[in-house]
Amino acid sequence: MKKILVTGGAGFIGSHFVRSVQADDVTVLDKLTYAGNLANLEGVRHTFVRGDICDLDLLKEVVPGHDLVVNFAAESHVDRSIDGAAEFVRTNVLGTQTLMQACLDAGTPKVVQVSTDEVYGSIDIGSWNESAPLQPRSPYAAAKAGGDLIARAYAVTHGLNVSITRCGNNYGPRQYPEKVIPLFVTNLARGRKVPLYGDGGNVRDWIHAEDHCAGIRLVADVGEPGEVYHIAGTAELSNLELTQRLLDVCGKGWDMVEHVTDRKGHDRRYSLDDSKLRALGYRAEVPFEQGLKDTVRWYLDNRDWWSACAG
Ligand code: NAD
Repeated sequence: MKKILVTGGAGFIGSHFVRSVQADDVTVLDKLTYAGNLANLEGVRHTFVRGDICDLDLLKEVVPGHDLVVNFAAESHVDRSIDGAAEFVRTNVLGTQTLMQACLDAGTPKVVQVSTDEVYGSIDIGSWNESAPLQPRSPYAAAKAGGDLIARAYAVTHGLNVSITRCGNNYGPRQYPEKVIPLFVTNLARGRKVPLYGDGGNVRDWIHAEDHCAGIRLVADVGEPGEVYHIAGTAELSNLELTQRLLDVCGKGWDMVEHVTDRKGHDRRYSLDDSKLRALGYRAEVPFEQGLKDTVRWYLDNRDWWSACAG
């Protein structure tokens, strides 16, 4: 049994990860921002510590003794980073550096820094491999890129055994309803219209959070220090196509769609080549059609969960 510290484990993907390592001894450290929710961990075995990954004194107490530290803690919503970037830089860059330092000081055997395809910017055709240049275009993506680079520097300079994962757009239960899939489903459930940005032509590559977590577990097991591993999605869809599928699953029509002004600097398309991780045995398991149906069902069955979220 491993001792695993999951930072940001009360959020969307982190709570899926905690569920997936129940055979281990798990501690969750989470600041419980608006996006962190203890209800995400109800019935899930773990020890909870409320705290900030920028707090080195706290990390000095919590980190030692863990075999693996996985960092999900982040400010994660692009629109919020456009309204104000300071908290993104604080948590995603300074917080990552503080955590890397604490892991170095504690001699943590393995660390995984969880990151995103958004650090590469936008790609019209083809897919990025792990050596593509970092060209982030939103404050969120820039702050994640900063965190990735500091993690890599701790591997190269200090020999910290940290690997970095970069994944596409996640979907699944317990995603804060500001992100497109839960926002659309919960709006439709309330009889409200759904806001579609611009021409709806932005393309995203969707992956179920459980598949993302399987990729992270594999990297935790076999990832090399300082190396980046992509975890690609299973369904590349424009926002128009995604909207159509959500309307179909929810039994609604296009009269429920409201076209709104596009997000500033909206990235057109993301696409990852994950052959490096697949060569190590990774396979996504959740078919998108079924995963989406089950996800919609979860939100419809768990109205109390999302009604308690602000907004
Ligand atoms: P989320 O916003 O749902 O959860 C983030 C969690 O981090 C919350 O529980 C929050 O309370 C916690 N947190 C925030 N600041 C903190 C701090 N300073 N100290 C401690 N805890 C803090 O995010 P998510 O969608 O679950 O994303 C998790 C990670 O995965 C992030 O690093 C994100 O960049 C990355 N990622 C997300 C996606 C996606 O589609 N959601 C895709 C690729 C990568």
